[in-house]
Amino acid sequence: MSLTKDFVTSCLTGVQDPIRGQDVVRSGALQWVSACDTYASLRLHLPAQAGPAIFAQVAQLAHNKITQISQRNGERVDSLIVEFVDDAGQVVHTARFGGMVAPASTTSSTQATSTAPITPPPQPIGHEPIPGLQRPARPAGSHGLPGVRHIIAVGAGKGGVGKSSIALNLAVGLARKGHAVGLLDGDIYGPSMPTMLGLNSLEQSVLQGRLQPFYVHGIKVITIGKLVDAEKPLIWRGPMAHGAFKQLAEQTAWGELDYLIIDLPPGTGDIALTMAQSLQLTGAVVVCTPQRVAQDDAIRAAGMFRQLGIEILGVVENMSSFVGDDGKVYDIFGKGGAEMMAQKLGVPFLGAVPITMSLRENSDKGDPTANFEGNGPAQSRLKDALDHLVSNLESQTALAAMRSGAQKPVLTIS
Ligand code: ADP
Repeated sequence: MSLTKDFVTSCLTGVQDPIRGQDVVRSGALQWVSACDTYASLRLHLPAQAGPAIFAQVAQLAHNKITQISQRNGERVDSLIVEFVDDAGQVVHTARFGGMVAPASTTSSTQATSTAPITPPPQPIGHEPIPGLQRPARPAGSHGLPGVRHIIAVGAGKGGVGKSSIALNLAVGLARKGHAVGLLDGDIYGPSMPTMLGLNSLEQSVLQGRLQPFYVHGIKVITIGKLVDAEKPLIWRGPMAHGAFKQLAEQTAWGELDYLIIDLPPGTGDIALTMAQSLQLTGAVVVCTPQRVAQDDAIRAAGMFRQLGIEILGVVENMSSFVGDDGKVYDIFGKGGAEMMAQKLGVPFLGAVPITMSLRENSDKGDPTANFEGNGPAQSRLKDALDHLVSNLESQTALAAMRSGAQKPVLTIS
C-alpha cells in the first residue's frame, strides 16, 4: 500500500493548530501535502507568534497521527518532512522524521505520547535546506513585464521529456479557463512551437518596433523559430543568446496577461540565468519522466531554479504510463517516480500526464486544443490529466504570489 495525499490530509484533521484553536486543515495552516509510496511531506503556515517549540510540537503531533493511523491500516511511513513557512512563504523550520518503520500496534490512541517507538527516533531539526537547493534572494535588477501578472518558467533537466508539450498544454489549458495567456518559446536552440502551434504558414509582424505575438488556440505566442531560418542550425554565443531571449521577452507587445509561460531550453544553461536576472518570475515548473535516470537531471534543474532565487511551483510527471486508444494502461517508463522526487525535494507535485498517441499527433499537426476535447478512453484520461494539472498550477501560482506579497487576497463584500 502507498500513502496518498487524501490519507495524509485526513490524518492531519487530528492535529491541532495551537494558535488558531482548530485542526491544521480547517484552520488553513496546511498549505500542501505530497505523498508517494512510504514518503510524505507537508507544509504548514502558522501565525507569526509561533516559534521553534510550537513548530516542533505540531510536527511531532503530525508525525504521531500519520504513523499511528498508517500502522492501523497496515501501512508504513518511511519518511515524513514537515516544513513551516512564514508569511512570506520562506521555510523557517523543517522537521524530518526519517528511516523509520512504524511497528504493528493495536493502540488507537491519538495522544502523541502513545506513539510506538520507532528507529531511529524522530529528529526534528532546525531549518536545514537540502544541499544545493537553498533559495537565495532574487537577483537584483530583475523586474516584471508591464501588464503581466504571473511569469512562469517551464524547465527540464534534459531534452525530450516533453517540456515544450507541457508548457504549451499548460498555456492552452489556462486560456481555456478564461485567463489571458502568453507563451514565450524561450527554447532558442530548438524552438518547437512553430510546429506544435501550426505557425508555419504565418508571418511574424513588427509594429512600431515591437514584435506582435501570434494569437492562436486562445493564447499569444512568440518564438525565435519565426525570426530565423528554420532550416539553419541555431548557434548562439552566450551574449547573442542572452540578447535574443531578452528581446523576445521585453520587446513583444504582450498587452495584459494573467500568465506568461516560458518554455526554457533543456538543462541548466545560461538562458535560465538571463531570465532570472531580467525577469521577476512567480515561479517555475519542472518536467520529468518517471525513470530514475530522468529524476537525477530534474533534481539538477530544480537546484538551478532555487539557486537563481526562483520558487518551484511544482513537478510534472510526463509520459507517466502509456494509455492505448482502448484505454489500457502500460507503465512503459514506470510511474510515480517524479512524485517521489517532488516529495524528496519538498516541492508540490502538480500531476501526471500519460503518453497518448493523440498528444503526439496533435503536436505534430499543430492543434493543442484537441488535447482538451474529443472522446474515447485515452483521450478522456489525457484531458482529465491536463485539466488537473492546470488547476493545480493555478492554485500553486496563487499561493506563491501571496507568499511573495505580489498578490493580496481580495475581500468581496456583497
Ligand atoms: P522537450 O521539449 O522536452 O524536448 P517535447 O515537448 O518537444 O520535448 O516532446 C518530444 C516529443 O514527445 C514530441 O514529439 C511530443 O509530441 C512527444 N510527447 C511529449 N509528451 C508526450 C506525451 N505525454 N504523449 C505522447 N507524446 C508526447
